[in-house]
Amino acid sequence: MITIDGSQGEGGGQILRSSLALSLVTGKPFRIEKIRARRNKPGLMRQHLTAVNAAVEVGAAEVEGNRIGSQDLVFIPKAIEAGQYHFSIGTAGSCTLVLQTVLPALCLAEGASELVLEGGTHNPHAPPFDFLARSFLPLLQRMGPKVSATLERPGFYPAGGGRFFVHIEPVSRFSRISLLERGDIVGRRASAMVARLPRSIGEREIRVVRNKLSWPAESLQVEEVAESQGPGNILTLEVASENLTEIFTGFGEWRVRAEKVASQTVKQVQDYLAAGVPVGQHLADQLLLPMALAGGGAFRTLAPSRHTTTNIEVLKEFLDIEVDMVKVAPKVWVDMVKVAPKVWEIRITGKEGDQQ
Ligand code: ATP
Repeated sequence: MITIDGSQGEGGGQILRSSLALSLVTGKPFRIEKIRARRNKPGLMRQHLTAVNAAVEVGAAEVEGNRIGSQDLVFIPKAIEAGQYHFSIGTAGSCTLVLQTVLPALCLAEGASELVLEGGTHNPHAPPFDFLARSFLPLLQRMGPKVSATLERPGFYPAGGGRFFVHIEPVSRFSRISLLERGDIVGRRASAMVARLPRSIGEREIRVVRNKLSWPAESLQVEEVAESQGPGNILTLEVASENLTEIFTGFGEWRVRAEKVASQTVKQVQDYLAAGVPVGQHLADQLLLPMALAGGGAFRTLAPSRHTTTNIEVLKEFLDIEVDMVKVAPKVWVDMVKVAPKVWEIRITGKEGDQQ
């Protein structure tokens, strides 16, 4: 049985979710020890337990250690069952992360699936719904499966109560994709969402975006959300280019000025644009798993995060793959000045999936 050290590298919940996802797809059982050992409250929290139980349902799996606070888990999948699923976290924990756990297996299952997910939909340190729906899923679709997500209502920390639907039409194997160039920028959009908070917060954020990025007025909007169980404020900055869409998110926080939230989010966009790469930091660690299952893929990105390097180690435990990470130095000009952005190329080769 594969044994995973949950304290390695980044030491968070992603090690568990990637292991569950890979175990479901490969049918290989595993044991994980020291789950989330590098976090203040180690072990399974509500979001992680929901992800484990979702994987148990989808994979008709045997499991040991699936309780709150558990730092050890054994997972033995039997068979993937496509169908209708309802996963509810019961707190504001991120339901996009629960989806991340079962999505690869359901994309390769023997029938279509319909999922209802409930909990947090726009959480700090997790993929916000908009990133999932407009950045990640369109790329996954290019790898074969048809996957769409529809938001019924957002859920913010700490109230939660968000809800979205996912429809999956599977394929027998993922196809390879390569994302080495961004292509021309074809669209920009900024949306400041406010729920149960003054509209002026969103307006102040949008003012910062307009001043710092000079995006056209018609691409900037404040969105007031009535159907939310609690207050929330999210600034979403979207850069659509010929080859993909990247999404950068700022999360409004109690006692943090709207201008600061917006400036930090704008900075993420500026760094991304200056580097000239197609793939941003979060997309990088999330693309690795489907690419590895496809048996190969490549992308250019910013300096790899610890989520990326740790995820690579977990992938290697389950799949026969090689991953090369090379620093490249393209010539990028910003305002007539030559700059040397830190650009990395990540290339996966392997024996799984679609051998072309
Ligand atoms: P923890 O153990 O820290 O509680 P967790 O289970 O909440 O962990 P992590 O292991 O930190 O989650 O993984 C978070 C995932 O969310 C990563 O895949 C990361 O790329 C993704 N993510 C975080 N912030 C964003 C963002 N703003 N946009 C898109 N994806 C994000």
